[in-house]
Amino acid sequence: MAETLTISGLEAWYGESKVLHGMDFNVRAGEVVTLLGRNGAGKTTTLKAIMGLVENREGSIRLDDAELIAAPPFEIARKGIAFCPEERGIFSSLSVRENLFLPPTVAKGGMTIEQILDLFPNLKERLDSQGTKLSGGEQQMLALGRILHTGARFLLLDEPTEGLAPVIIQQIGRTIRQLKALGFTILLVEQNVAFASGIADRHYVVELGRVVDEIPGSELEARLDTLKSYLGL
Ligand code: ATP
Repeated sequence: MAETLTISGLEAWYGESKVLHGMDFNVRAGEVVTLLGRNGAGKTTTLKAIMGLVENREGSIRLDDAELIAAPPFEIARKGIAFCPEERGIFSSLSVRENLFLPPTVAKGGMTIEQILDLFPNLKERLDSQGTKLSGGEQQMLALGRILHTGARFLLLDEPTEGLAPVIIQQIGRTIRQLKALGFTILLVEQNVAFASGIADRHYVVELGRVVDEIPGSELEARLDTLKSYLGL
């Protein structure tokens, strides 16, 4: 399933307020690509717009030849695209196992529970614990495991490292590399440049609802000062 996501002239509004002003970028099959930018630049809104979760959007979102700009979220999910929100969305009254099985399957070939537990051994002991009993890191792993179970192959991940300890961040980084090796395609929103630099093929810099620069992974080190000035670091 070789599929490229091509975003052209993407605009989005919350009510009267325009937040995306013509985003242009692409993510090719099998790549890990990041959106980097200051708070409020529009990175999360971009992921939500791709997933159909921002009602008011214009422009083009194509998965190969399929135009998704007007598609409802369930149709986008059925194309194998899944969104893992920053707040993770774990149902606290449900067990880990119940959370894992909650989203409907969208395609054949979703990971089995055994495969998910191989990726996230920490969850093994926790299968029957309630969502609320999990640490932040375990919740992030559960949120990732849950979308892997659905059969989605194109993953939109919103700041998976947010608020996590360095050792857990390393573990999430290893998992993303494993997912890439398994052929998943990943669009990642990140604030943590060190994390992003270790895992991504390419980076797009987002400012005020537009892509203002593209940095290949191999050039990030050399262009770190430029990137830091974009990010106000
Ligand atoms: P952050 O890392 O802070 O989430 P971001 O780059 O992901 O930053 P967005 O969350 O996409 O930025 O927000 C872009 C702009 O849209 C911001 O000005 C934000 O205040 C505004 N915004 C986000 N969500 C809503 C909403 N539900 N209603 C109205 N405005 C919103």
